[in-house]
Amino acid sequence: MSGLGTANRGTRINGEAAAAQLRSQLKEAVADLEHRGVTPGLAVIIVGEDPASSVYVRNKIRRSVEVGFRSFHHELPVSTSEGDLLSLILRLNDAPDVDGILVQLPLPSHIDSQRILAAVDPAKDVDGFHPLSAGKLMSGSPGVVPCTPLACMLLIRGVKKEIGGLNAVVIGRSNIVGKPMAHLLLRSDCTVTMAHSKTNSLPSVCRAADIVVAAVGHPEMVRGDWIKPGAIVIDVGINRVDREGGGRLVGDVAFHEAENVAGAITPVPGGVGPMTIACLLRNTIQSACARRGVFLPFPSEDP
Ligand code: NDP
Repeated sequence: MSGLGTANRGTRINGEAAAAQLRSQLKEAVADLEHRGVTPGLAVIIVGEDPASSVYVRNKIRRSVEVGFRSFHHELPVSTSEGDLLSLILRLNDAPDVDGILVQLPLPSHIDSQRILAAVDPAKDVDGFHPLSAGKLMSGSPGVVPCTPLACMLLIRGVKKEIGGLNAVVIGRSNIVGKPMAHLLLRSDCTVTMAHSKTNSLPSVCRAADIVVAAVGHPEMVRGDWIKPGAIVIDVGINRVDREGGGRLVGDVAFHEAENVAGAITPVPGGVGPMTIACLLRNTIQSACARRGVFLPFPSEDP
């Protein structure tokens, strides 16, 4: 299939505005839950003092308090043992007022991340990283969808509702972004190519794509001439460059080249990032409703 029909060339997808709109819907949902005696609770765990992780965690906590959640913040020293972290997770699994548990990644290298993520109660797995959540996504069963791919899907849907039959390329095959993203696109009937560091002729693979999702972690790797005219480009990458000059954030896509070719494109910052946090809040409400047997039509809606 060629061309995107409804996407206007060069539209900058405003992730801040989309996230603000979602948060205001979520705030209403939280107020509705309050009337039923339910206040969603989100526990966030950070181990160590990675500056980027600390900023992400602060933003997640701030946003969760803004929409009316109860927030539980666990800041642990980098020397925390795997056993102590597991004990904390087990305590939070049993805590009745905690609906969601988020373990900020990356964890220090002496801790086995997979073991930690698998210890989170699947009913509180608001990041969607538990193997059960991953299995549900792969098999097409309803379940928690990881926040970043969910954010990307909602942004794509905001540009173009019907994407069935389009060619989509996901660059990056991590468990937290690339793989779940590919499954979501497949679920929406896209023809999906997963690209990675061993992919041959990546520029020409991209040129065939109506939708490109870049989740690599290499600043401005995807150039303007890799993009098919009119394509939707979703840039997940967050890369700090120009550290001597104070530092600035860029994505995995060379934005100023690609925006002249793409039909719609997310900027960095202000694209996928804010929407990811809004999706975390959405997943927490979904979990609170499911755990407490409350039905709210909005948060259980799937992309
Ligand atoms: P990972 O490092 O886990 O995965 C990176 C992927 O990119 C790998 O699959 C790797 O391939 C692939 N890759 C590396 N180099 C190339 C290359 N030259 N060509 C093609 N593919 C390549 O990263 P994450 O998925 O965790 O994150 C990706 C980016 O997204 C990062 O910048 C991260 O900061 C950002 N991010 C942003 C979020 C947001 O909210 N906006 C949330 C999460 C992440 P291979 O498997 O072969 O090694």
